[in-house]
Parts: sequence; structure tokens; C-alpha cells
Amino acid sequence: MSLKGKTAVITGSNSGIGLGVARELARAGADVVLNSFTDRDEDHALAADLGREFGVNARYIKADMSSGAECRALIEQAGACDILVNNAGIQHVSPIDEFPVDKWDAIIAINMNSTYHTIAAALPMMRKAGWGRVVNVASAHGLTASPYKSAYVAAKHGVVGMTKVVALETAEEPITCNAICPGYVLTPLVEAQIPDTMEKYNMSRDEVVRNVMLSRQPSKDFATVEQIGGTAVFLCSDAAAQITGTTISVDGGWTAL
Ligand code: NAD
Repeated sequence: MSLKGKTAVITGSNSGIGLGVARELARAGADVVLNSFTDRDEDHALAADLGREFGVNARYIKADMSSGAECRALIEQAGACDILVNNAGIQHVSPIDEFPVDKWDAIIAINMNSTYHTIAAALPMMRKAGWGRVVNVASAHGLTASPYKSAYVAAKHGVVGMTKVVALETAEEPITCNAICPGYVLTPLVEAQIPDTMEKYNMSRDEVVRNVMLSRQPSKDFATVEQIGGTAVFLCSDAAAQITGTTISVDGGWTAL
């Protein structure tokens, strides 16, 4: 499978799943645009290293996915967007009646609204190019719920719904739109949840990982960023040309329960 000649924009891709997806798309030959809101020297160096490693054109573009205008500017600055991976996301855990309003607004903006803005900006480019792939990184929480994650679950269910609508609006075109729904993947986002959970349940790190995080993941193993990246590459392949408007779970059996 070669994605040579295609340009992929991956939001939130200076770490974790986004970086893993960017690496697999680059390995398949795509030029990649990395993104985050940080704009540090190491973000630009990360892109340069990735480009050298896989022999592709790799750039870093700063854009804050909590701003609709910056989401759209990211796509415009990329200049081409054959493959759009909406991955940027944050998490906050709190009972709904205590959920801080600023956290709620940020999660809905970054995890859901950004997907609307980038898709709206990218679709005209895909139509002009005569080919396009939208891959939204949703979550098992786009299909099921957990307590204390109201904003995240609402946002991810929203992304899954948006995925279906975009697929229907592009159904007769050579464009597909799908969502990947990972279970737990060990990334900085997940690492950051461990200390709070250890304190809340008075558990060791191992107990939190096995009995809390992976309690609903029957494989009892984390998914890897390479597996999420490989799934994205598959969705960009010719074999997936008739796969649109659906979700692919990479969750060790979580949503089979
Ligand atoms: P991560 O914290 O490692 O990465 C999040 C990425 O988003 C980073 O690159 C960060 O820079 C970027 N980001 C955050 N706020 C941003 C903003 N305002 N503007 C631009 N970029 C921003 O987390 P991750 O675990 O790799 O998560 C990536 C995606 O995968 C998220 O959408 C998350 O909800 C989803 N997901 C993760 C898991 C998991 O277990 N790790 C499971 C299911 C879904």
C-alpha cells in the first residue's frame, strides 16, 4: 500500500496516538503535517526527523484546536489535505454536577468542534483532488459510557455521529469518513489519569492499570499507537474504499461486552 503523493494532516500529533498515526502514514509514503498548539523547537525537529526517517515531506504547523479559526487555518496552511486525521483530544474526570465549565467547554471544542472545522475546510480540497479520506480518532467512549467522563463521552459520541453524516454527504464521491474507536492505549493522556485514580481508590499503579483501566478491556492489554496507525493506513487503502460512515474498534474486546 503506497500513499506516495498524498498529504496527510494529523491534528494533535506531537505525541501519543497522533504521532503514532503520523509515523504509520509516513511509513506508507504519505507526506505529513504534524500539529499541536505548542510550537516548540522540538515540535519542528520531530517533523524533520520523521521526514528524514521515512523519506517524505514532513512539516509542523502550530494551531490551537480549541479555536475554530485556527483549525481552518491549519488546513489552509497545509495547502493540500488528502488525508485528514482528527486526533487532538484532552480529558477531564469529574462528576457532572461538579464538572468545571471551562473544562467542559475545552473538551467539547478540542475533541468535537475541531473535527467539524477541519472537515469543513478540508472537504473542498479533497473534492478538487478527486480523492479523500477522513479518519476521526474517537474512542470506545464514542460507543459506550463511563461515569465522570460526561464531556469526553458526549464529545466522542458527537464525533461518531458527525462521522456518519459526513459519510452520507460524500457517499457518491471518492471520499470516505470513518472513526477509529480505541480502547485504552498507553499514551501521555492515559498516564496522566493514573495518579488521580491511584489516590481516589487508594490503589497501586499496577492495580489501577489492571483493575480500573483495563477492567473493561477483556484482552487485559493496552492497544498500541502503531496498531491505531495501522488501522488508519488500512482506512486509506483501496481495500477500504467502500468502508464509510462506520467505526472500527481497536479495544481488545471492550465493546463486545
Ligand atoms: P496525548 O495527550 O498523548 O495526545 C494528545 C494530542 O493532542 C497531543 O499531541 C497534544 O499536543 C494535542 N492537543 C491537545 N490539545 C490541543 C489543542 N488545543 N490544539 C492542538 N493540539 C492539541 O493523548 P492520546 O492518548 O494520544 O490521545 C489522542 C486521541 O486519542 C484523543 O482524541 C483521545 O481522546 C483519543 N483516545 C485515546 C485513548 C487512549 O487510551 N490513549 C483511547 C481512546 C481515544
